[in-house]
Amino acid sequence: MAPVDTPPDTPVTVPLRAAVAALPAYVPGARPSGRAYKLSSNENPYPPLPSVLAAIQTAAAEVNRYPDMYATELVETIAGYVGVGADQVVVGNGSVAVLQHVLEAVVEPGDEVVFPWRSFEAYPIITAVAGGTAVTVPVTSAGRLDLPAMAAAVTERTRAVLVCTPNNPTGPVVHADELETFLATVRRDVLVVVDEAYLEFVRDPASPDGLDVLRRHPNVVVLRTLSKAYGLAGLRVGYALAAPRLAAGIRATSTPFGVNHLAQRAGIAALQPPALAEMIEHVEAIVAERTRVADTLREQGWDVPETHANFVWLGLGERTAELAAQAAAAGVLVRPFPGDGMRVSIGEVAANDAFLALAAGWR
Ligand SMILES: *Cc1c(COP(=O)(O)O)cnc(C)c1O
Repeated sequence: MAPVDTPPDTPVTVPLRAAVAALPAYVPGARPSGRAYKLSSNENPYPPLPSVLAAIQTAAAEVNRYPDMYATELVETIAGYVGVGADQVVVGNGSVAVLQHVLEAVVEPGDEVVFPWRSFEAYPIITAVAGGTAVTVPVTSAGRLDLPAMAAAVTERTRAVLVCTPNNPTGPVVHADELETFLATVRRDVLVVVDEAYLEFVRDPASPDGLDVLRRHPNVVVLRTLSKAYGLAGLRVGYALAAPRLAAGIRATSTPFGVNHLAQRAGIAALQPPALAEMIEHVEAIVAERTRVADTLREQGWDVPETHANFVWLGLGERTAELAAQAAAAGVLVRPFPGDGMRVSIGEVAANDAFLALAAGWR
């Protein structure tokens, strides 16, 4: 059967929005075909916790019904967990979707959105989709955000600034005092998004507490996710914490029923005390592996930026694509940014060992 009933040579004359036609494609982490270690998407290497699996199983029997549109119980659970009012929490289909709703809520066509680069590759895409104009500010040679330069990049056209801490894909955090200085400089009608996707892996005492920053600066939105530390990447649950009026605006732009029923029930289960205790144990083990991987790489002679996330960065420059292909051939999938560097997630011990052996061979 033909997939559609239009004649095969009919040209498509519907124009795409110029911003959409020009979009870079989001490059997903490589997926294994056959046996391979997947260190390409910053996923949690531990399988879902038994209590979370049980919640998903129970919820599976209920999927003939629509989910709770406002994910009321999940929102209340998150609010209790982080210690804010439920009117300050907005959930969505992963924090990438939440960030899209944040920008859709505030960006008028042509407004500038300032973000570091290289940083999270969803930022330029989401900015363009929201109708904004991207203004990128290079990270330092140590892979750190240059907050003074980002403050200097703010103009009267700027509506939002994205602060990724730790920065994906380089790894360092911003420091609380740097962020304070930045927020004191930036106009109060500029929205500052603090993307804390890797918060649970941070061990730097100088790192800011996004919630504390939010309490003192109502133009801040904090983004968090259950994808990384909580191991729910496949179900898609992220959230924003914001002042109630901003949160209402973000909620208004959100996809109806954007968090599905399985994800809502799994998210609630993941935030119960016994599951949280297991999560913390897993995160501790990943952080210990991160230290081992980064130390070993440095002993091998690599210059590795300080990392507070569940990945390390190797600035391989022009060798990036070739070495990533070599790694894939050896059964280790990494995330190459051709011409720039390679991001390697911290996985199970055997996966990390396989990567370290490759890296030693590249020296
Ligand atoms: C992984 C990641 C996210 C979260 O993605 P989800 O959509 O919640 O899975 C957000 N920001 C950054 C910087 C990330 O690396």
